[in-house]
Amino acid sequence: MAPKAPAKKKPAKKAASPSAPQQIPFVNYLVLGKTPYLRAFECTNCGARFLDRRNACANCFATAFKKVRIKNTGVVTSFAIVMQAKEPFVSATVDCDGTMVACTLLDVEPNPEHVKLGMKVKLKTYSMGKDAEGTEAIGFGFAPA
Ligand SMILES: [Zn+2]
Repeated sequence: MAPKAPAKKKPAKKAASPSAPQQIPFVNYLVLGKTPYLRAFECTNCGARFLDRRNACANCFATAFKKVRIKNTGVVTSFAIVMQAKEPFVSATVDCDGTMVACTLLDVEPNPEHVKLGMKVKLKTYSMGKDAEGTEAIGFGFAPA
């Protein structure tokens, strides 16, 4: 009779106590912390920036990138008021010191009287909800600065 295999050790769980629920960013270019920020991949050849990781630069086809921190403030360069959802919201492009970020505008009335081209906005994160284990998903948008 074969000797009994030793009891399998449970894989060590990450130290995530229920008192300190873990937070995960909803998109991987959002970096959480004391001061959350957005991170871009910058082409080391031409300086073009992309929020998602690419194998090659869409501008010059170079393949080397460095991670850069995007400024947390910007100006609205285009927007659309989206009426199809239960609650209307503002979808916008924000120019953060040369890096274009597509986002939702937060804390504004979704109408043309309150949303203006060139309005100054700043990065804002918010909770999108928790799963059963208490891990919280964090989303971002831009709110009037
Ligand atoms: Zn490039």
